[in-house]
Amino acid sequence: MSSVAEGKRIRIRGTVQGVGFRPWVYRVAQQSGVRGRVWNDASGVTIDAFGDGPTLRAFEAALHDSPPPAARIAGFECSAIPVEPLRAFVIEQSASAAEHLVSIPPDLATCDDCVKDIFDPANRRYRYPFTNCTNCGPRFTIATDAPYDRAATTMAPFEMCGPCRHEYEDVLDRRFHAQPTACPVCGPQLELVWTGKDDGTPSADAIGEAAAALRRGLIVAVKGIGGFHLACDATSEPAVRRLRERKHRDAKPLAVMVPTLDAASELAVVTPVHRDLLTSPERPIVLMEKRPGGGLAEAVAPRNGQLGLMLPYSPLHHLLLADAGCPLVMTSGNLSDEPIAFTNDDARLRLGAIADVLLLHDREIHTRCDDSVATVVAGGPLLVRRSRGYVPRAVSVRTPFAAPVLATGALLKNTFCLASGTQAFLGPHIGDLENLETYDSFTTAIERFQRFVGIRPELVACDLHPDYLSTRYAEQRPERVIRVQHHHAHVVSAMAEHGLDGRVIGIAYDGTGYGTDGTSWGGEILVATHARFERLASFRPIALVGGDAAVREPWRGALALLLDAHDGELPDAAERLMRSVSAAEREQMRQLILRGVHVSRARGVGRYFDAFGALFLDRRRAAFEGQVALEWNQVADRTSRRTYPFTIDERQPLMELDLRSAVRAAVDDASRGVPAAVIAAAFHNTLAAATSAVVLRVMDATGPLPVVASGGCFQNAMLAEGIREALTGVDVRLHAQVPPGDGGIALGQAVAANAIAKIS
Ligand code: ZN
Ligand code: ZN
Ligand code: FE
Repeated sequence: MSSVAEGKRIRIRGTVQGVGFRPWVYRVAQQSGVRGRVWNDASGVTIDAFGDGPTLRAFEAALHDSPPPAARIAGFECSAIPVEPLRAFVIEQSASAAEHLVSIPPDLATCDDCVKDIFDPANRRYRYPFTNCTNCGPRFTIATDAPYDRAATTMAPFEMCGPCRHEYEDVLDRRFHAQPTACPVCGPQLELVWTGKDDGTPSADAIGEAAAALRRGLIVAVKGIGGFHLACDATSEPAVRRLRERKHRDAKPLAVMVPTLDAASELAVVTPVHRDLLTSPERPIVLMEKRPGGGLAEAVAPRNGQLGLMLPYSPLHHLLLADAGCPLVMTSGNLSDEPIAFTNDDARLRLGAIADVLLLHDREIHTRCDDSVATVVAGGPLLVRRSRGYVPRAVSVRTPFAAPVLATGALLKNTFCLASGTQAFLGPHIGDLENLETYDSFTTAIERFQRFVGIRPELVACDLHPDYLSTRYAEQRPERVIRVQHHHAHVVSAMAEHGLDGRVIGIAYDGTGYGTDGTSWGGEILVATHARFERLASFRPIALVGGDAAVREPWRGALALLLDAHDGELPDAAERLMRSVSAAEREQMRQLILRGVHVSRARGVGRYFDAFGALFLDRRRAAFEGQVALEWNQVADRTSRRTYPFTIDERQPLMELDLRSAVRAAVDDASRGVPAAVIAAAFHNTLAAATSAVVLRVMDATGPLPVVASGGCFQNAMLAEGIREALTGVDVRLHAQVPPGDGGIALGQAVAANAIAKIS
């Protein structure tokens, strides 16, 4: 044996816990002949390595080259340490207090090796739907307590058989310390229930039978990783329509699961960035441009140029898709507006009337976690919904939290955030906090998450809106409460994601948020720090009659827009454009608006999208919030450079973006037969030009500052890219890992509240 010449400490940061990292380091050490130790600590994994110079260099290189599939190395630091006379390399138990913060990993999609196992007739896990290893499998959703260990998961009742135990204890095995490992002999089992029959006759081939039902056009509720899906043949028009009817889901697009990347490419345009998202261990639903003639039922995503696809992420999915032989609609297992079902009892009760077949199993899901949703904006990935696969991984922030914080989020698409030190943990997608079921799931998830990430908040942040259930919840808590204005929180969320802690210009465009003056804001340009903001510009308000009804009936906003642009009179074009609205209705609405009856003044950029879309596509109603806005975005001709005139009204203290001249120009265009695609493009281009003009004007006063863009409107790639293009030479930051919509707002609330608490 050569003499020990050197010692090195290697600190690795990133996603390196719960992904088989330490066993992998151990194996690399064995192969390289390095002695020492590896352990988890609060920020990642640390290795003390001893060996001669060349051996250590080879070891380091190997660590760099081939990390485990689900690991993400964010930082790699080496320093020299005194040599210790060790004889072996060991995995050390971690100091549990230090490990607590990051101990529960997110759920990981089935790895390639496990997929091989389940399709190999010679393997003892052939067709076993609960196969997993250290590189893959459920984590967060089965954890019942922290730290992450089999006894603290819903796998605790399953006692490992001899062969499984052997793999679990063999450091050279892929299943070494894979907490949920199991096999057909010792692990969970499937159960197939026909909802029409009351006898639960066990099926010898539950997957085969469920697949046959799917091929016959039936609806199957499938217990997945974070909850139930409702599945049906995505190529069958009647099956998809029946699913929509039974689920009471009007027109919202349904997600589709396809077996392979090739199958995805047949249905949608898959760029390399989309491909990376689709195949990532997080396996989100990825929104892509639909390919015409792909063979899917029109009812999957009616009047929608986009398609949400995902690849299988559990062995059960792989087997079911292989047996079914067709792409499957896989939509969340709930009635519209309710939280997703995740227990067998819940599924029998709530999904029994929707599904013909329930594909159940006896591995409990402890924490419900919806599928995540991703898209591509400005050539990079953007999370629209950050949930399964990402939760509970922390977002690192630059400014440490002075005290642990809980931020309770907004009303719609709620997520909350628990933060401490430099780590912010965004919770799973909760949904719209508008009914008791969702509220219960919100409070339960917060209590559980506090335990999982080991954070006891001393400060609670919430929205300024007094009526949000998330605000009311915050105020019931004993801790000090700090309210953060909605658009300020959006802007700070983007700042936190990009490690910006100075002054920025923030563009916050969404549907609505409660302003400091008690009115509804939604198209805001701020100069902001974490603690403070100044509102410098907003959009000229649209007079909406009837509050929520106006969101469902965007023709009301369209009419208001026309009236405002034409001095209170309806132009002749109104009749031609708004055929779905009778002359009497138009006149009645005109009177209400002019007299100010039930009128609220909306400044949301989302409302402008609704109103323009309703006017030039003649859409009277929206089946769901934002449907018309989405359509108005999708019809836009991406190649058109057309823009309309606009005015920036430099009133004090608030500049106003005035689009009345753009409305008149668009009406002229429509009268001359210019296609809606070109008008929609001009609308986008005008918004980008107007936004950049205001930002540059603000910068005249402030000097150069970084610009951040946040709010739900920045899921719109054309708008985001247009603004970035219009602001050439300016540092414009868009979201990536944190959703720009209200699903990402809790991070901004937490960071802002921390800063506000320091100065007040
Ligand atoms: Zn695996
Ligand atoms: Zn076993
Ligand atoms: Fe918002």
